[in-house]
Amino acid sequence: MKNSNIVLISAAATLLMASCTSPKKEESSKGHGINLANFDTTVNPRNDFYHYVDGNWIKNNPVPASEGRWTAFNELDEKKLSNLKEILEAAAKDTTAKAGSNKQKIGDYYSTGMDSVKLQQDGITPLNEEFAAIAAIKNTNDLIKVIAHEHYIGIGPLFGYYVTQDQKISTQYISYLSQGGLGLPDRDYYLKEDEDSKKLRAEYEKHLQNMFGLLTDKPEESAKESKTILNIETSLAKASMTRVQLRDPEIQYNKKTLAQVKELCPSVDWDTYLGSMNVSDIKEIIVTQPEFLKEVNNLLKKTSIDDWKIYLRWHLINGTAGKLSDSFVNEHFHFYGTVLNGVKELRPRWKRCLESTDGAMGEALGQLYVEKYFSAESKKKVNEMVDNLIAAYKERLNTRDWMSAETKKQAVEKLDKIMKKLAYPDKWRDYSSLEIKKDSYVQNFLRANAFESKRVINKLNEPVDRTEWGMSPQTINAYYNPSLNEIVFPAGIMQPPFFDAEADDAVNYGAIGAVIGHEITHGFDDEGSQYDADGNLKNWWTAEDKAKFKEKTQRVVKQFNNYVPVDSVHINGELTLGENIADLGGLTIAYYAYKKSLEGKPQPEKIDGFTGEQRFFIAWTQGWRTNNRPEALKEQIKTNPHSPGQYRVIGPLSNLKEFYEAFNVKEGDAMYRPDSERAEIW
Ligand SMILES: [Zn+2]
Repeated sequence: MKNSNIVLISAAATLLMASCTSPKKEESSKGHGINLANFDTTVNPRNDFYHYVDGNWIKNNPVPASEGRWTAFNELDEKKLSNLKEILEAAAKDTTAKAGSNKQKIGDYYSTGMDSVKLQQDGITPLNEEFAAIAAIKNTNDLIKVIAHEHYIGIGPLFGYYVTQDQKISTQYISYLSQGGLGLPDRDYYLKEDEDSKKLRAEYEKHLQNMFGLLTDKPEESAKESKTILNIETSLAKASMTRVQLRDPEIQYNKKTLAQVKELCPSVDWDTYLGSMNVSDIKEIIVTQPEFLKEVNNLLKKTSIDDWKIYLRWHLINGTAGKLSDSFVNEHFHFYGTVLNGVKELRPRWKRCLESTDGAMGEALGQLYVEKYFSAESKKKVNEMVDNLIAAYKERLNTRDWMSAETKKQAVEKLDKIMKKLAYPDKWRDYSSLEIKKDSYVQNFLRANAFESKRVINKLNEPVDRTEWGMSPQTINAYYNPSLNEIVFPAGIMQPPFFDAEADDAVNYGAIGAVIGHEITHGFDDEGSQYDADGNLKNWWTAEDKAKFKEKTQRVVKQFNNYVPVDSVHINGELTLGENIADLGGLTIAYYAYKKSLEGKPQPEKIDGFTGEQRFFIAWTQGWRTNNRPEALKEQIKTNPHSPGQYRVIGPLSNLKEFYEAFNVKEGDAMYRPDSERAEIW
């Protein structure tokens, strides 16, 4: 069960950079925040700013065997992981931890995952009951009950169900039904006919056979079963929206009465489904992909119960393989790690267990983390910076000559109403009803998923909780949530290279400042701009302004469509548009917030030979240093709305006259775009 609505600063384990207002004493902060050793000074910054700033780092930091990608975010993540490991190991060893306390729960969750001997002995047995429930299915009604149960424990067959705010009535929660049920990362993997896609499908089929083999099915059987899975999933893929369509909230807002849902997909007994999830008394549901639900109906009519059992067994084992004995873990990793992402080696067990504990009880872990590793001083400084960014944003909005006074007024209202959340929640999540035991790692995982389902479903009877966080405090990332019109910066991102209390303002504005600007701009990107100040999907633009905005964003689409990061694979300018607008806008606003912070003060001295303006752009670029395996890069381009790091540097900078001025970029330089081709929106 997911909240599909939040917009992050960065792809999974990659974020932006942070920084802050920090001390004004340039003398004492000399050299802080920028690492000259990472530069490749043989590269001309006017031709390739990315490799100029990050070139030596790129040469010296190959992707580790256990990763698909290596970035500044990963480097920071390593430190966080070792801090969290200390907390978890202490909790796991603490025999005095009170039963039912958060400490007991995180300790036991982690230690059941670390107990490799028991995991080997147990094999698949902790899932016996789950498999027995599938085996006992006799008719469609049983089938729907089992699907509901699997959804409740966090397994995702056939379609998705979740609860979040009503996109058009942001003061209420409502149920959603969505597309889902695939084993590959995107619909395109099933449908594309290029060589890479065909090869991946063949590998997927092999993986399915291997997994059924591990469930002790005979080879002939496994071969047949894998075909069954591919058939069902390909039908679902065909009826699924593309990733670009998924960025359009309006086409996904299809509010139906329960009676209409029953009419759209009569093969599902919705009373049974919802009842099994403990969802009662609902009148309306938003169906994000009605065509998909029609296909679910067709498939239920034409697929045999035996085939559904095969499909459910696959989704159960696929969703839990990482928490079982080595043979399951290794086969799962072989396909999703090595084949799809080029990763050579499994991450060490402690990291995998730690991340699973973090996923299950992120705020319990987070509470201990911030007590030990976070300083209130950072929060105070980042808070000041957020205020400065919002003030600069308002000034800048009013200078947009392409926008009418009418639309500007609405935009300013939206900006004024942005809510900020910094470091960690005021109120920590209550895990008291979650049961974590020493019996089984995979059962702990499923119980934590069920706890989360219950928590989310309970919202249907409650007012909207505006204090809730969508990310744990230790996460090195940030997000904008359009339904709450809020920007959120966890404690995790408030550290170097994103935020450095020792660094000068230029560096901090170029790093965390631009991250803050990026998140604010998500409220005004092609998607976020469709939501009003109160988080409702509701137009607040004049038709003329909307048309001008669209025209400006199309220029960004075109620019990114032209980038080719790997083989002949182009960036998808439509898929990455929101993030690219946010980078361009965020960097621009942070730059002007920086300039504003200098008003009435002497010009800052050069540091390491760089002016303040130059250091601002260097700081941004440092945060995007990246090495990719080609497989991981291809997967990112297909499925992730964030452009690869290199293009998050050269894309926005090649549009900014402020960058041209700082580094004297002229016609003929590779970073140069003629004025007529530059994009400027916010
Ligand atoms: Zn973003």
